[in-house]
Amino acid sequence: MPESPPVAGISVAQALAAARALGVEALDAQLLLLEVLGRSPTERAWLHAHDTDTVPAALAQAYLKHCRRRAHGEPLAYLVGSKEFFGLSLRVDARVLVPRPDTETLVEWALDLLPTDGPARVLDLGTGSGAIALALQHSRPALQVQAVDASHDALAVAQANAQRLGLRVDFRHGHWLDAVEGRFDLIASNPPYIAEADPHLEALRHEPLEALTAGADGLDDIRQIIDRSRDHLAEGGWLLLEHGYDQAGAVRQLMTAAGFDPVQSRNDLAQIERCCAGQWRGRKTIALKASDNAN
Ligand code: GLN
Repeated sequence: MPESPPVAGISVAQALAAARALGVEALDAQLLLLEVLGRSPTERAWLHAHDTDTVPAALAQAYLKHCRRRAHGEPLAYLVGSKEFFGLSLRVDARVLVPRPDTETLVEWALDLLPTDGPARVLDLGTGSGAIALALQHSRPALQVQAVDASHDALAVAQANAQRLGLRVDFRHGHWLDAVEGRFDLIASNPPYIAEADPHLEALRHEPLEALTAGADGLDDIRQIIDRSRDHLAEGGWLLLEHGYDQAGAVRQLMTAAGFDPVQSRNDLAQIERCCAGQWRGRKTIALKASDNAN
C-alpha cells in the first residue's frame, strides 16, 4: 500500500466525510475514528457532539490509512483489533477468522442442550479466536471446556483471549480429534465449510483460508468431524455443527448415516438453516436399529 501523504489536523466531520469519499460505510468510519482517538465504540454520540474538534495530524493519518484498508475489504475487526461475540470482547487479528453473529446461534443451542449447572464436558473443535469455547465457559462457569485448533497462531490468539477474560479453557493443538482423549457431553464446531472454488471467497480474502475452505464441496472437514466425534461423545451427547447456507440437508444426511439420532437443524439470524445437531446414543443403538429395519 502506498505511504499516505502527510495531512494536517482535520476536524471530526472532515475525517468522517473523507472516509465516505473512500467508500467506507458511515458506521465503520465512526468506529475506526473512535479507535484511533482511543475512545470506546459506544461513544458514537461523542463524535456528533464534537464534530468540529480537531483530529491531530498523526492520528488523522493513522485513521485514513485504516479507512483505505477497510475500503480494500479488510475486516473492521482486524483494523480495530477486536470483535464482540456473545457479550464478550475478543481480540482478533488476521491469524483467526472473525467471529460471526451466526455462530452465536450455535452457542445458544449448545446452552439449550447443556445442563444449566454441573460440570458437563464440552469440546470446541477449530476454536480460532476461542469464540465458542469462551462464550460457553463464560455463560456456564461449571462447564469443563476443552478447545482444539490445528493452527498454533490461532491458539495463541485464543489463549490470550482466555487469559484477558479470566476464563478457564483447556487448549490443545491438533487436527480435529487427533489430540483429544476421552468423551464429551457436547462437541461444537464452526469448521471450514466453503467449497474451494466458491466465488464468495474473494470477499473473505483477508481471513485465513484454512479456516474457510474444505474440499470441492466444502464438506471435507464436516465429514471427518462427524465420523470421528462418535468415539468422543458420551452416550446421549450432542454434536453441534455450523455449516454453509446450502448444506443443511447434506449435513443432516451425513449425521443420520453416521448413526446420530435425532438430527435437527436451526436457523441463523437471516432465517437460513445454519446449524445441525445430532445426538449420539452409542454404537449399540445403531446395531439394534439396523436389525429393526431389516425386519
Ligand atoms: N460464515 C463464514 C462466511 O461465510 C464462514 C465461516 C466458516 O467457514 N466456518 O462468511
